[in-house]
Amino acid sequence: MIGSMRPIIVAGNWKMHTTPADAGELARTIAARTRVDGVIRVLCPPFVCLAAVRDAVSGPDAAAPDGSGVAVGAQDVHHEAAGAFTGAISAPMLAGLATWTIVGHSERRRDACETDELIGRKLLAARAAGLRTILCVGEQLAEREAGRASDVVDRQLRGCLAAADPVAINAGDAAAFAIAYEPVWAIGTGRNARGADAAEMAAAIRQTLAALGFPNGGADVPVLYGGSVASSNIDEFMAEPSIDGALVGGASLKPDEMAAIVARAGLTAAARAGAGA
Ligand code: PEP
Repeated sequence: MIGSMRPIIVAGNWKMHTTPADAGELARTIAARTRVDGVIRVLCPPFVCLAAVRDAVSGPDAAAPDGSGVAVGAQDVHHEAAGAFTGAISAPMLAGLATWTIVGHSERRRDACETDELIGRKLLAARAAGLRTILCVGEQLAEREAGRASDVVDRQLRGCLAAADPVAINAGDAAAFAIAYEPVWAIGTGRNARGADAAEMAAAIRQTLAALGFPNGGADVPVLYGGSVASSNIDEFMAEPSIDGALVGGASLKPDEMAAIVARAGLTAAARAGAGA
């Protein structure tokens, strides 16, 4: 698959913000302001807000298989389908609520001590339940400054994907498995990576995917950038042919920001569609 054939995805990670009382209204507003051809939009509210967001984006904004509409995603899933895991939510439990999930977000690696091996199990559990999955990887500032960013991401990917089938993971659905490159030092700090750095990391990610046996040297797998994405910097990421969208945190709670981010992503989608036509 050539780069232009990968889907463009903008996912909003609402983290621990919103309540069931206000999430629906926010989702409705964002959905209405981000109707742009060629961009898969995903909203990932807290678990308790999934139903409200699902209801808010049903109807004309419901996600269709081609990616039109707004899809609902979870921010995490448990690695088992069921069991004695107090407070946990499994992938099968999300049926009817979400069609996507994030796994391996750096805030969960940090706060819940999630290891690459555990994240790999979550990824497989999510895919087994039919969820489209965004796997997050990214280095710490000290690791980047030591010139080890691509080694760290390589290690994370190998750890997370050790048990995954590289051929089956996105077979038949180009959006089934995406990777978000999220340098930890850029998350929630207002300090974003440069577009060129993100592109370099996307190339390194695909090199690892190729080594792991992903078809077409990993070229089929969408790579998103995440880390203080905003309307003011989305252009430099979407201008990079190797970057296929964004995982947006803080700005995803602001309809104006999301409208501008998705609009810019739509320009790339249109350009790729034109180039592929
Ligand atoms: C994120 O939550 O994945 C993220 C990148 O957050 P922010 O955009 O706020 O840096």
